[in-house]
Order: sequence, then C-alpha cells, then structure tokens
Amino acid sequence: MNASLIFNLSLPELTSLLTEWDEPTYRARQIWQGLYHNFWNTPKEFTILPASLRQKLSESLEFNILVPTTTLQSSDGETIKTLCQLHDGKAIETVLMKYDPSAALRQFKRDNLGQGRRTLCISTQVGCAMGCVFCATGQMGFKRHLSSGEIVAQVMYFARLLHDQGEVVTNVVLMGMGEPFHNYDNTMAAIDRLNDPDGYNFGARRLTISTVGLVPAIRRFTAEKRQVHLAISLHAADDTLRTSMLPINNRYPIKELLEACRDYITATGRRITFEWAMVNGVNDTPDQAHLLASKLKGLLCHVNAIPLNPTEGYSGKATTRQRANEFIDILSKSGIPCTIRLRRGIDIKAGCGQLVSQV
Ligand code: SF4
Repeated sequence: MNASLIFNLSLPELTSLLTEWDEPTYRARQIWQGLYHNFWNTPKEFTILPASLRQKLSESLEFNILVPTTTLQSSDGETIKTLCQLHDGKAIETVLMKYDPSAALRQFKRDNLGQGRRTLCISTQVGCAMGCVFCATGQMGFKRHLSSGEIVAQVMYFARLLHDQGEVVTNVVLMGMGEPFHNYDNTMAAIDRLNDPDGYNFGARRLTISTVGLVPAIRRFTAEKRQVHLAISLHAADDTLRTSMLPINNRYPIKELLEACRDYITATGRRITFEWAMVNGVNDTPDQAHLLASKLKGLLCHVNAIPLNPTEGYSGKATTRQRANEFIDILSKSGIPCTIRLRRGIDIKAGCGQLVSQV
C-alpha cells in the first residue's frame, strides 16, 4: 500500500496517524467528513482544521492522486470518459454514464432522487492479465494493481463533479480496466471504504463487481456475504469457444464456474448477471443460445447481451439487431430472463482500455 495516498486510509488508520501526530482523534472524523461528505480534495479546503494540521496533511499525504489528462464526451452527451494519470505516470480510464430519469423512473421514485441514473464504470488495475481477446485492456497486458485509494479516488472524482451540478452518483460498476477479483484485497477494501456509513455511505447494493470467472475468488466473495451485485462475463456456452475468447476458461471451465455461481445464489439468495458480448457469427448463434439456456436453467440469473464494442486487436464484429433479437428470443422462450443492452459511448471508445490504448 502506498501510505501517502489519503484515500488509501480507513478511518481507524487515519485516526491512528493523527494519534501519532499528537492530534485529537476527533480531527480524524472531521477530515473523513471533509473527504467523503464535502468532497474536499486539497488540504487548504479543510478550513475547519488548524493551519498547522493542514500543513502536516499537505506534507505527509497525497490528496489529488488522479490527474485527468483527457476527457471525452459522447455526441449525445450521455457518456463521459476520463483518462487519468496516476502518481507513477500510468493511466486508467473511468466512465460516467447518464441515463434519462424516465428510463428508470421506478428506481428513482423509490430512491427519492430527482435525477436520472448516474453510473460510474471504474478500473481496478492498470491493464489486465486475463487476456480476453476482444478487450483493449486485455490486449495491453497487465501493468499493476490499483491501490484501494486509487479505486476509491475514481468514485470521489466523479462524485465531486456531479455534486457541483447538484447530482449524485447512483451506481458504480467495477467493469473498467482490470479484473477486480485478481486484485481482491484492494477491491474489497475500496468497496468497504465507499460503503462506510460514517463516510461516503454508498450502498453496497448499488455496486456491481464484474468478473471473468475466477472461481476461488467467487467462493471467497460468497463466504464474505457482501451485498454487492455479482456479474459474470460468460460470453460463450461451450468450453472450446469460451477458451478461445477468454483464456481463463482453461483454468476454470464453465461447469466449475457455474457450480460456484449456483453456490453463490444458494448462499446469498442474490441473482447473478451473466454478461454476453455478442460477436457476429461467433457466439450469437441459435446453437449457443440453446446451449446457454440449458446451462442456466434453474439459476436465479439475468443475461445481459451487449453487441461487441469492436477493438483494433480483434477481428470480430458486433452482432446485428436481428441476430441479437433471435438470440434473446430463444433464451426468453426457455425461461431465461434476458435483455439487450445498448452500447454506450461507442464514438468515444468507451469500451474499457480503448482510450488508454489509443493515447
Ligand atoms: S474483459 Fe475484463 S477481465 Fe477480460 S481482459 Fe478485459 S479487463 Fe481483463
């Protein structure tokens, strides 16, 4: 852990740091609230603290750890992708997706929010070791894990931005660069920090972790019983095809993966989302749909089918509307809940890793 990043610290860690500095412990809570309630991101904003403590904070801890270098907005204005530089010069992407209030009216009535959904897609690693063939991040290989603070800081960056516009982040998906379960400890520490009722207090049920299917981590996640949603990048219903798209399938084949999913559902009572990037003529065939339906039968799940976001390192093309409709029709008739999701921000290369690769 890089202790100099303030977002790497939990409240107890911050409290013991202040004790080391001979400061009263209530100051830790004031700093915590400044960070997570007021979205202050420079020591000078903490005017509730004595100048000497502000000075100590600025000498000892790094606040502004994400330096936005490129921000792109889709032509419809609803997707904003930001490329941020980290302290070691490496870059990550974070995406904000805005949804019209009418599209999700029920949720917002329930949540009493007068705005549409504001979903952040955040990164957990620089690059990725999983090597999924269609993914720009996978194509660049693994560089390093993000610290918990670097994960938290992405949310706080956009929380601040939205706060200035009178809005809030409503959902966070860990589907950006990297495999969250490959960076398990830092990812869970970040989730717990975001979730802290004394801090940002972001509900676990508004978070979704997406994994390519690291079975031991799914089992650990099951045992830890967080309320966070789980999404699995499945993409193929037989091992030969899945291994050709997601090499990790060699290690954790579909049967083993679905057993872990079944155990997760039994233990938590929670529904799993299966992601399906639809590649024309590859995994959007009626055969794949029938096979998928037979494998998911009886599972509490939902399939999200998303036309592939094309990348330069992969020759596959997005499915057509007609093929996608036929695919979900087969699933629906077999009793598997399924939705075709829109690709967002295609004109700004919003697929994970595409902007970093380009830059
Ligand atoms: S799809 Fe996810 S797990 Fe696969 S290479 Fe890309 S970032 Fe990694």
